[in-house]
Amino acid sequence: MAGTAIITGSSRGIGAAIAKRLAKDGYNIIINDVSQEIIDTAGKEVAEECRAFGVKAECYAADVSDYAQCEGLVKWAKEEFGSIDVLINNAGITRDGLMAQMSEEIYDLVIRVNQKSVFNMTKLVGKVMIRQRSGRIVNLASVAGLYGNPGQMNYSASKGAIIAMTKTTAKELGSRGITCNAVAPGFIQTPMTDKLTEEQRNAMLAQIAMKRYGQPEEIAGVVSFLCSPDSSYVTGQIIEISGGLSM
Ligand code: NAD
Repeated sequence: MAGTAIITGSSRGIGAAIAKRLAKDGYNIIINDVSQEIIDTAGKEVAEECRAFGVKAECYAADVSDYAQCEGLVKWAKEEFGSIDVLINNAGITRDGLMAQMSEEIYDLVIRVNQKSVFNMTKLVGKVMIRQRSGRIVNLASVAGLYGNPGQMNYSASKGAIIAMTKTTAKELGSRGITCNAVAPGFIQTPMTDKLTEEQRNAMLAQIAMKRYGQPEEIAGVVSFLCSPDSSYVTGQIIEISGGLSM
């Protein structure tokens, strides 16, 4: 059932691993990232690795928190690839700090990048999928959105919203043959988590049943399942991928 997959924020980390895995699964790939500079330095390399699987792979720079830029991306994708069969809402940022010290600007920024981007892309790609009467949407939530996390009022709010948006999308689009699910990663080794202090990492590790961090490929494998024929009757679900962080 391959076709074309858009993965937002996919020039590195989990997004890059998902792009490569979906390419291996036979999907044509659209790599997106926030700036042309990131595309030129990292995104193009990911596209090259995707093409090694014999699929088409192109890059498009767009800030997915900006509705007009998302319109440009989706219009280009339709023209260039014909159909859009999979949307992975992966782009995300952290700007951590205790609530008492968190500025309004930093709160708003994380909500706009992590949460509003999901509205922008799901609305625009959803329209294309409704016409096709098929599609798969997978959102990147987080354990922070399920359980909360001190120092992440903005981030956990955005990820909790993504969980609600996943269920709403599943209910609105289910009758059109479109599924929408989310994965909720725990601690995955990427440039995002490389920023944490040794103390923060050790505190996290102590709570993980498997006593190790996850790898981006371990998220990509579950996303691949959610885009495969094997998950055709799975929708509105949040799959935690955390090595047993919470049970
Ligand atoms: P990362 O920082 O390594 O990669 C994120 C990518 O998104 C970067 O390439 C970045 O440039 C891009 N991006 C940022 N803002 C963007 C924008 N406005 N428009 C387009 N692209 C943008 O992060 P990651 O660890 O790979 O995380 C990927 C997703 O998984 C995020 O949504 C994150 O919240 C989620 N997640 C990660 C972890 C983890 O432990 N790493 C845990 C839970 C959830």
